[in-house]
Amino acid sequence: MSKFWSPFVKNLVPYVPGEQPKLAKLVKLNTNENPYGPSPKAIAAMQAELNDNLRLYPDPNGERLKQAVAEYYGVTPAQVFVGNGSDEVLAHAFHGLFQHDKPLLFPDISYSFYPVYCGLYGIACEQIALDEQFQIRVADYARPNGGIVFPNPNAPTGCLLALDAIEQLLKANPDSVVLVDEAYIDFGGATAISLVDQYPNLLVTQTLSKSRSLAGLRVGLAVGHPQLIEALERIKNSFNSYPLDRLAIAGAAAAFEDRGYFEQTCRQVIDSRESVVAGLQALGFEVLPSAANFVFARHPHKDAANLAAGLREQGVIVRHFKQARIAQFLRISIGAPEQNQALLDALSSL
Ligand SMILES: *Cc1c(COP(=O)(O)O)cnc(C)c1O
Repeated sequence: MSKFWSPFVKNLVPYVPGEQPKLAKLVKLNTNENPYGPSPKAIAAMQAELNDNLRLYPDPNGERLKQAVAEYYGVTPAQVFVGNGSDEVLAHAFHGLFQHDKPLLFPDISYSFYPVYCGLYGIACEQIALDEQFQIRVADYARPNGGIVFPNPNAPTGCLLALDAIEQLLKANPDSVVLVDEAYIDFGGATAISLVDQYPNLLVTQTLSKSRSLAGLRVGLAVGHPQLIEALERIKNSFNSYPLDRLAIAGAAAAFEDRGYFEQTCRQVIDSRESVVAGLQALGFEVLPSAANFVFARHPHKDAANLAAGLREQGVIVRHFKQARIAQFLRISIGAPEQNQALLDALSSL
């Protein structure tokens, strides 16, 4: 603390990202990165941008990327917002759409950045308990609110909420924005972007960090009614005119255009997930049904913190949350087949 700080900084509780270890040899299954690497076409597009044009500012609106996203999803560019990672897009949405008198609702077990943004922007929130099966129960959200946000599939559980349940939420809350954070939707869910033309209160965010394997590039997006997008643009243009650099715009657009590579690598991750689930179950783990590129699992007789520590000694890192209700679970990212095997071997030795 310092006398120079703005007073509110004293009370900020920042988000703690998963560890990025400096050791290269670790089997890193703790931050849901994609084992397959970005599309070769995305890499080529970025290499082509690596030239003297870097002395010029990028397109402040990232039109080329908005166009690629719009084409992919069959929407118009005016329904698309792009930003520096979906964390930034989420931050702008919280700032621009959720600062109301009534509280923002989100699940008690979900992305731990949501309460952090509430703290940053002074947004009142209420956390709604997931049911005993760790599922979102739509009826529990029937209460006064200034907005609703949840990841779908949920993180860190991996559980998917069906589109018709999302539609119920949208219909029941016509006066507030329902934000669906689809960071993991490409690993087994149906996107709610199909509903944006029908529901002006729906905003969907996605990231290129997971299914398009570009966590290091920092690109995220939102799709929704042009008036919701306009709020995000106003915040963005009051904060940073150029959140995406030239490489990011070119690489992300090319990644969206390369459907073949995207579909093939998603399929490989999904297939690996099914064998990791089977392997964990064979070791006695209970595994929640996952539609994401990670699984959430607990062992009836082994303490999760001890397991995580034991795995680390064997060079495998997974994520453990010291949080009520989920302290006995491990969140394990799906890696390449040999990484998944290393995980299962290390667990069986424990
Ligand atoms: C990874 C993740 C994000 C953020 O993704 P970035 O685009 O890398 O900032 C957002 N929401 C959830 C639920 C995530 O797991």
